[in-house]
Parts: sequence; C-alpha cells; structure tokens
Amino acid sequence: MIANETTRRRVLVIDDNESVHDDFRKIFEAKERPQRLAAAKAAVFGTAADARSASSVLRFEVDTALRGEDGLEMVRAAHADGRPYALAFVDMRMPPGWNGLTTVKKLWEADPELQIVICTAYSDYSLDQVSDELANTDKLLILKKPFDNAEALQMAAALTEKWQAQRAAAMKLDELKRMVQERTAEIEYATLHDKLTGLPNRTFLQMRLEGCLQRRARKSDYRFAVLFLDFDRFKLINDGLGHEVGDLVLIEVADRLRQALRGGDALTQVSTPSRLGGDEFIVLLEDLRDERDAARVAERLLRVLAEPYVLETQKLHLTASIGIATSDRGYERAGDILRDADTAMYRAKAAGRARYVMFDQAMHEDVMSRLSLESALRRAVRDDLLTLHYQPIVRLADGRLCGFEALVRWTDPNRGPIPAPELIAVAEENGLIQPLSLSVLRAASRQLRTWQERFRPSPPLMMNVNLSRKQLLDPELVDKIRDTIQNADIEPNSLVLEITESAVHDDQPMAVHVFEQLKQMGVWLHLDDFGTGYSSLSCLYQLPLSGLKIDRSFIRSICTERAHAVVLDAIVRIARAFSLKVVAEGVEDTEQLGMLRALGIDHGQGYLFGKPAPAHIAERMLEPEHDGALLEAGAAAH
Ligand code: C2E
Ligand code: MG
Ligand code: MG
Repeated sequence: MIANETTRRRVLVIDDNESVHDDFRKIFEAKERPQRLAAAKAAVFGTAADARSASSVLRFEVDTALRGEDGLEMVRAAHADGRPYALAFVDMRMPPGWNGLTTVKKLWEADPELQIVICTAYSDYSLDQVSDELANTDKLLILKKPFDNAEALQMAAALTEKWQAQRAAAMKLDELKRMVQERTAEIEYATLHDKLTGLPNRTFLQMRLEGCLQRRARKSDYRFAVLFLDFDRFKLINDGLGHEVGDLVLIEVADRLRQALRGGDALTQVSTPSRLGGDEFIVLLEDLRDERDAARVAERLLRVLAEPYVLETQKLHLTASIGIATSDRGYERAGDILRDADTAMYRAKAAGRARYVMFDQAMHEDVMSRLSLESALRRAVRDDLLTLHYQPIVRLADGRLCGFEALVRWTDPNRGPIPAPELIAVAEENGLIQPLSLSVLRAASRQLRTWQERFRPSPPLMMNVNLSRKQLLDPELVDKIRDTIQNADIEPNSLVLEITESAVHDDQPMAVHVFEQLKQMGVWLHLDDFGTGYSSLSCLYQLPLSGLKIDRSFIRSICTERAHAVVLDAIVRIARAFSLKVVAEGVEDTEQLGMLRALGIDHGQGYLFGKPAPAHIAERMLEPEHDGALLEAGAAAH
C-alpha cells in the first residue's frame, strides 16, 4: 500500500548540541504549512508534484538524539517497530562519541533505506571526502552550516518524498514478486494435478515412479507396486446419466481413494493415488514390506469402491477392475510397469470384472509375443510382404460370378499364418492399419483392372474391399480412395467398400460424413457382418448404404432355426424398402443356398462357391469355360 501523504514522516536529528534540536523542532513542527511546502516541493519535483501536494498536508514527526550511539538505537527500534525513520540529520562532529561518518555507516547497517543529511561546517570534510567514505551516496545530502531553515525544510520534504516513493515502489515490487510466486505455484500445481478430482496426474505419477525405479536400482530390497484401476462399464454412466453425473462419481471415487490410502497402516504408508484420465486411476504403493501386500490393498480398494454411490436422486452401483504390477520383475522404465499393470487390468476384466489380477510370467510372455508380432508386421507392411486372397461373390438367381472380396493374408516367419481378424486388430492398435489398408486397396484395385482387361467379364466385375473402423478417423481417407481409383484406372462403381456394423456405431456422425463423400464419388458401400453388432435400423436410413452382408453366424442356422429364417425374411423386406442389395456370407451348403434363393437374397459368398484363394487360382473362375459353372453343383442338387 502506498503511504498516505498526510502520514507523518519521521525525522531523526542527531546532534550533540541540544539547541540545534530545538531549531529543528521549530522548523518541522509547525502545524500546517501547505503553501510553503508546496513551494519547497515544487522546487524539487516540478509542477506535477506541486499540484499533488497543494491539496495535501505534509507533517513531520521529529525525534532527537545527542549521540550517534543513541541515534542508532532509535533507528533500530523504529525499524523493528515497523515505523522506520525516513530521514536523519546527522551532525558531523559529536565528540567524544562517534563522529558523523561513523554514525551514518552504523545507521545504514541498521536501515539501508534511511535518507541522510550530514550537517557540516565549512571547515569539515568536503563532499568528495564524504562520498569516498560512504558508499550509499544516492541517499545522502550535505547541508553546510549555518543553514537556512527553508533550505533544511526543502531537503526534508524532498528526501522524505523520495524515501516514500522508493518504499512504495519496493512494496509494489514485493507484491509483484508474491503474485508471480503464487501464479508459478498455481501453474506447477495445475501441471501436476488432475483438474476434476485434484488428484496427482500422469506427469506427477511418472515422476514418482521414476523415483521408485531409481531407489530400487540402488537398493534391491526396496519394493513398490503399481495398481491400475479401471471402472467396469463406466461408459454406461456417462452415456446414460450424462457427463455431469459421471464427474460427480469420479470426484467421489477420488475421495474414497484418498481416505482408503491415508497412511493409516503399514500397507499404505506411502501411497499415491492418481488419475490418468477418464475412469482410469493408478495407485502407486511405495516402500512395501512385501510385494504381496499390494494384493491386500487392491482387495480393500475393490471393497471401498463397490459401496453404493449416493447421488441426489439415485444410488449407483459400480465395480472396478485392478491390474497389479510389482517391482520384483526388475523394471527399468516407468512405461513398462504401467503397461504391464494395464495388461493385468484387462485380464481382470476378461476374467469377469470386479477383481484384481497380478501381472505374471505367462502374461509377460504374451506381451512379448504380441510385441514381436507387432514388429514383424511392421516390417511386413514396410516391405510389402502382405498378400491378398480373393473369394468369389455370386448372383444367386443365375449363379453368375459378379465379384470378389479381397482378404488380407500374412504369414509371420515365427508363428506361421496369422488369422485376418487378429492381424487387423494388431494393426489397428499400433497405427499400422492406415498403410496396411492402403496397400490392400491398391493391390485389389490393380488386380481388378488386370482381370477386367484380360477377361472382359459380363456382368462387369466388382471388387469388395474391407474398411477398418480406424480408417474412418483418417481425414484423408476419401482423397486416398479417390487417388487409388484413378491410379488403378478403374470405375468407382466397380469398387465396394465393406465396413463392419459395429465400426459405424463407434461414431455414426463421422461415418455418415465419410460415406456421403464416398457415395458421391460413385463407390458402393456395404454394411458387413450385419446381425452381429447392435443392429439398429437407424443405420440403414442414416447411412448412404448400397447393401447389407448378412453375417455367417446367421446363415449357418437358417435351416435349423425357423426363427432365423423369419428374421432373415424380415431383413430382406426392410432392405428392399431401402433399395439395398442383400449378400449372404458363409454359404456352405446347397440346403442353405435353396433357402436363400427362396428368400430372394441377391448375392452369396461362401465355401460353396469358392474359398478365398490367391489371384492366380481365383482367376480360373473368370475363364470363359468356367462360365456359369460356379453354381452347377448347387443347382443340380436342387
Ligand atoms: P469379412 O469381411 O466378413 O470376411 C469374410 C470372412 O469369412 C473371411 O475370413 C472369409 O474367409 C470367411 N468366410 C467366407 N466364406 C466362408 C464360409 O463359407 N465359411 C467360413 N467358415 N468362413 C467363410 P477372413 O479372411 O479370415 O477374414 C476375417 C475378417 O477379417 C473379415 O471378415 C474382415 O472383417 C477382416 N479382414 C480381412 N481382410 C481385411 C482387410 O484387408 N482389411 C480389413 N480392414 N479387414 C479385413
Ligand atoms: Mg468383408
Ligand atoms: Mg463379413
């Protein structure tokens, strides 16, 4: 706070002559003298200061001391009291005590801000000498004796004004420093804590974990554990009751974790709960006596977290799954122990949820084999070692071949052929899916062009290619498909893209957006594996589809389960209403074929017509002598 101008400014006079004390009192203790003071200040500061001071009243409070030593005591006391002197007039000669210079040095040791006027006769030291002796000369003036009262007053006004301005500036600076410190602390807190729950965040946890790893490296009997905690079906709360409710539950979860881990016992003495994001929490247990104690803590947390969550109008029941990884596996990196705890957590979910699972050797081997599969696949994609098999799709009415579905194939040098769904899942997890899908699309498009040129099939041949759910997230997908079609020199309407039903459910608005653009381009779009996901009719009218591929599991049972035949009949009618083609997948025998024909299904694909095969085998079906032969067996049996 800047001092009020009417505050009395404290002046100390140190002179061994008492009559000088009286002189100073007379000068300073006149009640009010705005006129004279205004003039004095104007002389020093110019008109601005003059204008300010014209309306204010300058008052001094004068104290006196006969010796430098006494003066010093008074300065110290005033400073300690929080009412420091602004100015001291110090006589140069005060025998037998300290002289003026010694006194000033001592005063500045006690209060470096103090302004000083040294009063000296002509015969005393020169200003240069004084300056040489005293370092702090910007706070020092010399008043030659005998002095004029007005001169002393002017000096007092000017120096105390300066003193006050410097104090105000220093206070402001202090205030600024304090604000910067506070802000820095706030930012530091924000970078290390989760905003919603106030728990430490991933960065904080990472730092803590690094500390544990270092301690373990130094001391092999230092033990710690990571508990990876994820709620079961938390999405249902967010989706069903809204994110606000989800947030309230997470805040409550954080409180329960804090309570349960409050260092009340030997197990949880040093434990840090943190939030990774969403409904994922990590608890770091440090300095464990025994790694198995981590399991006891996990049990306790599962119990505490399973208590009902009472919100204003409802009671929610939730469970969590916990994966545990412990320091005895000799981890070197924080990322590795977190990954293993995460893997164990997924095992806990797979084993039925609401439980904990300890990461173990078998899981370690699984993870390693998954990692080696990943890197082998990465090399295969880079070196273009993936191949395609082609499976025929026929028109059921006359048994004619109308196209092929391209299916990716890859043989891992160590593990042998990898099933396509596993291959796709691995690629989707590590970002390989984009280059993989693009190379499949290119190869299939080139193959189509080659067959069209060589065999000139009629009806014109189509090529079906599968789209991964992750491709829908690629903002350049549509451009990539357009370029591929152009480079392969095929008609857009000879390409059918198949997308599995559940992928569309992940993000329907996005799917609509992508599909609209593909449709405009002229590409056909089929919903794959229809009947396996959450079949919803809204898909059929919201997406610009051209066909449905009924899943194999459905076709398998149409001859044995009457209900399935009835449902299929209904699906065909609905598809007709939306002008969608219907394709049956996995047709394996003639009985199924007969049923599908009776139901009026347009196309069929399955082992009955041909298994997926490499191009040089699949193309035999395109030879002229093969014409119409595909369904011969089926037709004969009918
Ligand atoms: P999908 O697109 O539904 O492909 C049909 C799958 O059913 C193929 O399995 C095929 O070999 C199999 N199949 C066809 N007819 C029969 C039959 O009569 N009986 C039996 N038991 N199976 C039959 P595949 O090749 O193992 O592919 C499985 C899935 O992997 C595909 O299902 C597709 O979702 C995915 N996939 C395959 N290749 C690719 C690809 O290049 N990209 C993407 N994104 N996914 C692919
Ligand atoms: Mg497919
Ligand atoms: Mg399918």
